[in-house]
Amino acid sequence: CGIVGVLGNHEAAPILVEALKRLEYRGYDSAGIATVNDLRLDRRRAVGKLVNLSDLLVHEPLAGKAGIGHTRWATHGVPNVGNAHPHRAGGVAVVHNGIVENFRELREFLATEGIGFETDTDTETVALLAQHYRDQGLSPVDAAAQTIARLEGAYALCFLFDGEEDLLIAARKGSPLAIGYGDGEMFVGSDAIALAPMTDRISYLEEGDWAVITRTSIEIRDRAGNIANRAIKTIQIDT
Ligand code: GLU
Repeated sequence: CGIVGVLGNHEAAPILVEALKRLEYRGYDSAGIATVNDLRLDRRRAVGKLVNLSDLLVHEPLAGKAGIGHTRWATHGVPNVGNAHPHRAGGVAVVHNGIVENFRELREFLATEGIGFETDTDTETVALLAQHYRDQGLSPVDAAAQTIARLEGAYALCFLFDGEEDLLIAARKGSPLAIGYGDGEMFVGSDAIALAPMTDRISYLEEGDWAVITRTSIEIRDRAGNIANRAIKTIQIDT
């Protein structure tokens, strides 16, 4: 029920877990994070409270300064480690809040392409679809754009890619998503509260927006595909 993303200058894992803690109030049944380190994508997931994820990270640390995180409120598939986010297909990891309403149709399409499933979630189709487009030779940005264009339903999404330590792609339709602006760092979160320890400079994506984010740049497009400017506001939140 919460999403975070970071392109930072410090280790991402503690920042992601801290931000997820600030989203705990929304409720959740499992949690996970993914990072890219030395260009390699990896992830850790745990059922139950965030402390279970923190404990796992003590024994199996996840290095890297770029990452995404998620607290899950299961809608499709029971709460277990396999169904927890981030979902991964090949070199694509994704966190998702909401419901992909047309996931059955997308599964059928993927099945005709010979692509199988490992989870019971609607979200896995998003990762599989993006990897499918990567396999067809599309760049991470184009693969994400094609994927987002095919989704129906409500979502806040954040993508992370193998081999890309300075790229996040975020999208919003029906679930809020905030962008946090740091000093040579960028953050994504379900709300400004999650991002308060990192930055107070926030802009909110609007319905249908999707954003290509690096540490020093952001390009937001609206649902018509036009470049959009979303005002950056300074927000006061107690940390
Ligand atoms: N529908 C997705 C799932 O069940 C995301 C749920 C959420 O918003 O946390 O995994």
